[in-house]
Order: sequence, then structure tokens, then C-alpha cells
Amino acid sequence: MTSVPQLDAEATAMVDRAIAALAGRRVAVLTGAGISTDSGIPDYRGRGAPVRTPMTAQQFLGDEAARRRYWVGSHLGWNAFSAASPNAGHEALATLEARQVATGVITQNVDGLHLRAGSRRVVELHGTMRRVFCTHCGQVFDRRDIAARVEDDNPWISVPANIRLAPDGDVLPESTDDFVIPTCTVCDGMLKPDVVFFGEYIPVEKFREAEALVRASEALLIAGSSLVVNSGIRLVERARRRKIPVVIVNRGETRADARATVKVDAGTSEVLRSLAEALPAERALPG
Ligand SMILES: [Zn+2]
Repeated sequence: MTSVPQLDAEATAMVDRAIAALAGRRVAVLTGAGISTDSGIPDYRGRGAPVRTPMTAQQFLGDEAARRRYWVGSHLGWNAFSAASPNAGHEALATLEARQVATGVITQNVDGLHLRAGSRRVVELHGTMRRVFCTHCGQVFDRRDIAARVEDDNPWISVPANIRLAPDGDVLPESTDDFVIPTCTVCDGMLKPDVVFFGEYIPVEKFREAEALVRASEALLIAGSSLVVNSGIRLVERARRRKIPVVIVNRGETRADARATVKVDAGTSEVLRSLAEALPAERALPG
């Protein structure tokens, strides 16, 4: 278990209200980037984050230079994800699911940390960095195999001195002109990581799965998301329509604060751990 900071008096009082709202209920959980910051993965939408212009799928598919840039960044991001470990927040949610308090986790993250923490029912709304697929023949690849090929074809990429820290904290190589883009081993087609790009829609069946999880639950807990992404707001609306409690745990404002039953403005690691300590497996007990 990782060490977790203590909550102040105000946050403790809000956590008590969150516990009261969730007690005895089956809880669907929605998480965003804020839950992974304690694992060392930056939240680009969080407070004080640099303004970024993410690449669209059109740029990726239509422009080879853009595609090279994307692959370099994505490869470095994958390495960072692989080196990261789940934190107390991910662990608390896995514990709550094992106790049958949480029905599952819907996540906007592509880092795979919920699965690594032991959560079993995980709806990855924005896809996952673990998989890469061929846009031509549909063949699916394990990211580890693609990463190994990237490093074989571009040995310079694993030399830290070749990677420069940009002023906004982003890590970039001086130039990506020489980068060899991996292609499909079956048909030589264009590969694409299995993640939803900026401006792309979430696959309909993914959103349906998320809705089904909320429908099968008696409360919605949102952790580490400012709900900038519309799919999150739509799930909050589904919960409100069913008049079930909505509890939000996030540092800073979210787009649904006014609609929440309880809002806890604190870190997810400490709050989720407190919730896991306070919410026993009531439904699993006889009677
Ligand atoms: Zn192919």
C-alpha cells in the first residue's frame, strides 16, 4: 500500500456525508485523469495544466509527419504508463468491487491502472493504450509487441539524452523526421492505437455498457474528473433522472458540482481509501 496524506477537517466532514449518501447502495464509479495523478501520470485537464492542442484522428490518418509525431509521443507515454503503478485510489475501488459495493468502474483513462489494481468490470470509454489495431485489416496487436518493434526500428528513442523536456513539461525529441512508424505485420496497413482521439466519438456500444452499469446501480461516484468530457455529464444526467445519489470527489470544480448530492474537494487517493474503510460489504452478508 502506498502512503496517503491525511484529510483536513472540512474534507473529513464532506467524506462523512459521502459515506451517508452511499451506504447500503450498489455504486457505479466514473473516473478521470485525476485518479491517476498520484501514480505520476499528469492530468492535462487539471488545475494549472498547460494548454494543449491534442491531435485529431483526421490529422493522424491524413498526415505522415503528424503520424510520426504522434507515435513518438504515444510510445513515450506508453513507457510512462508501463512504469507507473496503481495508487491507493485504484486499490480502494478494486476493494469496493470485491466486496460487491462497487458494480464496476467506467473510466476516461487509457492507462489501464484500474485493471492492474484488480478491478474486474472496467468500461474504458476512451479505449486503451494496451492495444493497437490495423486500420486496414483490423488485426489487433499487443502494445508491448509494437513497443518492442518501435525500439528495434528506432534505437535512439530509448536514449534519454535524445529526449528534450519542452517548456510546458511535455517530453519531445528534437525531431521526429527519422522515426520509423510501425505497420501491420499482416497487410502492411496503417496501425492506430485503440484510443479515442480528440474530437472522435466514443463507440456507441462502449457508452451503452457504461449506461447499463449506471442503470444497474443505486448511486454514482465520480472520482478525479472535472467532467469536461460530455459522456461524463450524460452519465450524471442518467443518474439524476433515476434520482440516485451522485457523489463527486475531485480537486477543483467540475461541471456537475451544482447537480451533486455531495461534492468532496480533495484528492482521490485519501478520499477513496476512507470510503473503502467505511463501506462494508452489506449486500454480501446474509439477511
Ligand atoms: Zn493489417
